[in-house]
Amino acid sequence: MDKFREECGVFGIYRHPEAANLTYLGLYALQHRGQESVGIATSDGQRLRMHKAMGHVADAFDEAGIASLAGTSAVGHVRYSTSGESGLKNAQPILIDCSHGEIAICHNGNLVNAQELRDALVAEGSIFQTSSDTEVLLHLYARSRAATPEQAIVESISQAQGAFSLVLLTKDRLIAVRDPHGFRPLTLGRLGDAYIVCSETCALDLIDAEWIRDIKPGEVFIAGPDGERSVFPFPPAPSAHCVFEHVYFSRPDSYVFGKSVNEVRTEFGRRLAVEQPVPADVVVPIPDSGVCAAIGYAEKAGLPLQMGLIRNHYVGRTFIEPHQAIRHFGVRVKLNPVRSILQGRRVVLIDDSIVRGTTSRKIVRMVRAAGASEVHLRISCPPTISPCFYGIDTPKRSELIAATHEVDEIRRYIGADSLGYLSLEGLLGAVGDGRASYCTSCYTGRYPVAFPRNEAAYLQLALKLTE
Ligand code: SF4
Repeated sequence: MDKFREECGVFGIYRHPEAANLTYLGLYALQHRGQESVGIATSDGQRLRMHKAMGHVADAFDEAGIASLAGTSAVGHVRYSTSGESGLKNAQPILIDCSHGEIAICHNGNLVNAQELRDALVAEGSIFQTSSDTEVLLHLYARSRAATPEQAIVESISQAQGAFSLVLLTKDRLIAVRDPHGFRPLTLGRLGDAYIVCSETCALDLIDAEWIRDIKPGEVFIAGPDGERSVFPFPPAPSAHCVFEHVYFSRPDSYVFGKSVNEVRTEFGRRLAVEQPVPADVVVPIPDSGVCAAIGYAEKAGLPLQMGLIRNHYVGRTFIEPHQAIRHFGVRVKLNPVRSILQGRRVVLIDDSIVRGTTSRKIVRMVRAAGASEVHLRISCPPTISPCFYGIDTPKRSELIAATHEVDEIRRYIGADSLGYLSLEGLLGAVGDGRASYCTSCYTGRYPVAFPRNEAAYLQLALKLTE
């Protein structure tokens, strides 16, 4: 489907006899954040062990594999490639041994100055094993002359700019770090005596752990034999939580940036109904991502909500296409219209975003072909006009339909009777913390953290940086 791609999910646990097993389950709950590779590293207090594989969590580990990961602490990662090509060598955790001892790192986000740091390290003789931005941090760590591993971690991460929610494992410590802007989520929980750090609270729910609080922007949380503590070694920076976590990425049953994703997403829909009303007979979500906003829209508009599109949850990566032409085949493999709901009705379709517009066009055509008398598309966020440099895989700006087309031009391309987006004010009103707390760069083109010159070409249009 034509979507921004989820980035990565991280999970860490300290002091639990079933550390590997619970990490496996935590990653299972975070699978929506990355489906290309998965890995777990554990520590038994003396040495680290690791297993990584391509594919989904359930396929990558079996009982014997989990049992081989001995130890009471673990970190794990699900990945969709955001920096560096995909492949097992770029899968995480990345584990190294150096003068500070063994360390495994899991990263969610993207370092905007990784290439500059890497170039400088290579010029001084460093040899890289991966093309991932995360490995840069390990080289800086290994070269640090700081007295303790903790100080070396802080010293190395201080040189990084951009988005990073990290979990790190040494032989006797679990360390969690969140960048000072707080781009990506990272939350702290507890299960008995064990501490857990993970991307979303849905991972805590699956293992019956209790949510404590979010790791704060700029916080370094350390759990070790001498207890738990936090330090704030980085200069403070303006808050820039990724608003797209609420729009699309995070699971609706999670709490992200202190708020229920379901509640925020439903409120997007309510505000969309107020801002973009249309006479209609039925509200139909584009599943699964449009469901919460559609509930809010239908509630506010006083219209019935019906599942006029059914999603096939079991679509594999590849399927054998028929030689014979089948109308709407590409999209129908994933979504099928329910004729009894759509026929002769004025339909409001609700989706979370339009990226290139290609899939929206196919869905609108399919709904019309199923008998809808009118198709009105409503989008629960503003037009997406700029790519992301903070850990989300997005197309170039020139490929984003809203970057180069007015709303009515998009409507005509998509073939809808009307098209309406939620305004930026509506979006920020629904998340509730005000414009200052959130990154909205993909809707505004104003970036809170500058990125390297060689990536500016990615925009292909003039760039504005926030002062
Ligand atoms: S640019 Fe968009 S997707 Fe990227 S961090 Fe900002 S809000 Fe999130």
